[in-house]
Amino acid sequence: MARSSRGLAAVDDRGHRGYVRAPRRERSDGHPSELDPAAFLRVCEFAGGAGGRRTGGKEGRGWRMKLLQWIDKQSVATAVDRPRFERTFDAIVVGLGTAGAVAAIEAARSGLSTLGIERQTSMGGTGTNGHVAHYYFGAKGGLYEQLDERSAQLEKEGCLTDGAGVEAKKLALEEAALQAGVTIRYECTAIGLYMEGGTIAGVRWVGPDGVREAGCRVVIDCSGDAEIAVMAGCTARFGRDSDGTTHAYSNVVSLLRNGRVKSFYTDSGYVDHTDAAELTEALLASATLPTHLKQTFDESDRLLKVAPQLGIREGRLINGDQTLTFERFVHGEWTEEPLFYAYANLDNHAKDLALESDLQQEWSVVGGLWSLRIAVPIPLAALIPQGTTNLLVAGRSLAVDHDLASCVRMKRDMQKCGEIAAKAAYLALRDNTAVSEVPYAELRGLLERSGCAAEAPDTVEWLSERDDIRSGLASETPGIAIWSARRLGGSMIGPLREWCAQKQDGHLRKHSALALALLGDAGAIPALREMVLERDAFMSGTSHMYSQFRAHAAIYLLGKLGDAEMVPELERIVAEPIGREPEESWIRNKFIVSADDYRFQYVSYALLALLRIGDRHASVRERITAFVRREVLDESFQARFHLNSVSEYKLPHHATVQLQRLTRDRLASW
Ligand SMILES: Cc1cc2nc3c(=O)[nH]c(=O)nc-3n(C[C@H](O)[C@H](O)[C@H](O)COP(=O)(O)OP(=O)(O)OC[C@H]3O[C@@H](n4cnc5c(N)ncnc54)[C@H](O)[C@@H]3O)c2cc1C
Repeated sequence: MARSSRGLAAVDDRGHRGYVRAPRRERSDGHPSELDPAAFLRVCEFAGGAGGRRTGGKEGRGWRMKLLQWIDKQSVATAVDRPRFERTFDAIVVGLGTAGAVAAIEAARSGLSTLGIERQTSMGGTGTNGHVAHYYFGAKGGLYEQLDERSAQLEKEGCLTDGAGVEAKKLALEEAALQAGVTIRYECTAIGLYMEGGTIAGVRWVGPDGVREAGCRVVIDCSGDAEIAVMAGCTARFGRDSDGTTHAYSNVVSLLRNGRVKSFYTDSGYVDHTDAAELTEALLASATLPTHLKQTFDESDRLLKVAPQLGIREGRLINGDQTLTFERFVHGEWTEEPLFYAYANLDNHAKDLALESDLQQEWSVVGGLWSLRIAVPIPLAALIPQGTTNLLVAGRSLAVDHDLASCVRMKRDMQKCGEIAAKAAYLALRDNTAVSEVPYAELRGLLERSGCAAEAPDTVEWLSERDDIRSGLASETPGIAIWSARRLGGSMIGPLREWCAQKQDGHLRKHSALALALLGDAGAIPALREMVLERDAFMSGTSHMYSQFRAHAAIYLLGKLGDAEMVPELERIVAEPIGREPEESWIRNKFIVSADDYRFQYVSYALLALLRIGDRHASVRERITAFVRREVLDESFQARFHLNSVSEYKLPHHATVQLQRLTRDRLASW
């Protein structure tokens, strides 16, 4: 197998070599978690792919084979003799979940001898064992559609009338895998790798018969958490930049309603599921939440089971040969070699959007574009972890950033990337090349034939004419116009200033101010201040839900513009927030379902704006420091919000410690 000539060193986005340091996190109840932040996701530097050093006593003898194992949250390398594997497979697929089941079936159908290792007792992962039964967007086409047809047939003709299709899907996947000749190993967990340079020579796993090993020519990591990639010494990221929090998890239940099986879930909290203690705590706590109890359901409903696999929305995200970011996406820096288009909205479940990235806030809060669907072109390079030659990652760990991960995770798309990984593996083995050298045109051709590489689904058309933008800004659905103006940039500053200065049309004035502020123009400040002083509760109708108050967008933007004159008003908001019960007309604003939520949104935006203003102006730092020490870092400070819920039960999430830590870190940086 030839080695890839591409960047082999394991260096992350911020230039760290060999490891990614995750921000410190604490449990929602305020107790420090057992997570050791320094050790978290640390990968031994010497374990890093072809960039690794030779280690151990055998170095002098020129031994190059390493056994890499995930021990105490690190990849630990030991120099070893070349093992004699009882059997060598063309492809080993780790994790037979949403992506992995399709990858294994496709690999075997392509003629590769394929071993599939799965730690559960059936296939389908989150989509079956996690009881996430339904599709939510994602792009159509490809092998998964055949498997779904078979699943529907089994459900109709067999006795598998569970209504949710979960049991039938498991069976359809198993049937197809066995027919294709996949060697399946259930209740087996991959725990180690044999590597020579950046090439994986074999996989070690533990199962009912103890520790076993097999050789391989290519590995497809479908663990959902890049477990093989980090074991191999590749770097990965976890959670958002501000505090390392990933998207909320859910504990899914299935219930019998009117003779049909339904799955039901509500956000249960936040967890670092790569930590056994935290994961167990989450499993135990969420299974007994009020959202799972009888009073949540109709009298005739019958609870069948709690899904055996916890619903994790976001895991580790690899640093790929190409890592896709939302920033690059909105600037139109797309790959020229798309294999498929992931298709959904930024389905971010965070209620504390003030702690998400700036761009996320500009999209969802200022633009009100939460439900706008985007089509993200995915190249093969986003499936290849940096520094490896024969490893592909498929599933929710693709090389995307935290913002895009809320979109690039839907089941249809994850199944598609399983198919793509298998086809790429086939071509690489056929040509005896690194997976990164697979010819794009040929791979794309194969995917077109199977329907996997369909054209981009229709998405928004941005506006380019000034009159169209003006009328959009004057409307109650201004999101597309606000972002169209942002995209057009400097040429819009003149007209926006003019529309912002007039007073006859309130929407035009205010929405022009939002657009102008996105372009960094201080001409927006007077109108933004008005929105804050009025506590403007207007919600854009561009998104059908998760629209935020215009006042929140204005607070965020004043912080970004560094408006030091607003410091007293922002302090007032933090110190004297008035909790208000939600009004009926706020139905689209799912961020506010309680008086606590109302308070939390104002406090979090105002606090973050104060800290941003302090970043910009050294002259106000002393004042802001004294204020936050008194009001935020004080023991009496409380901040909590309620998680997304489809039931009347509102699960509280305590964010006090999160906000205090963020504040302390910021003060320390001044
Ligand atoms: C609560 C919730 C609701 C969602 N709602 C929707 C929706 O409505 N529609 C939609 O399209 N998408 C939805 N999604 C998203 C989608 O379901 C997931 O993103 C997708 O299923 C993830 O696929 P995956 O293959 O990456 O991971 P998984 O399907 O979880 O597969 C990973 C597999 O790897 C196995 N594994 C892990 N480590 C090892 C190891 N070391 N050795 C062996 N096996 C291992 C696991 O047991 C698992 O089977 C939802 C997700 C969640 C959590």
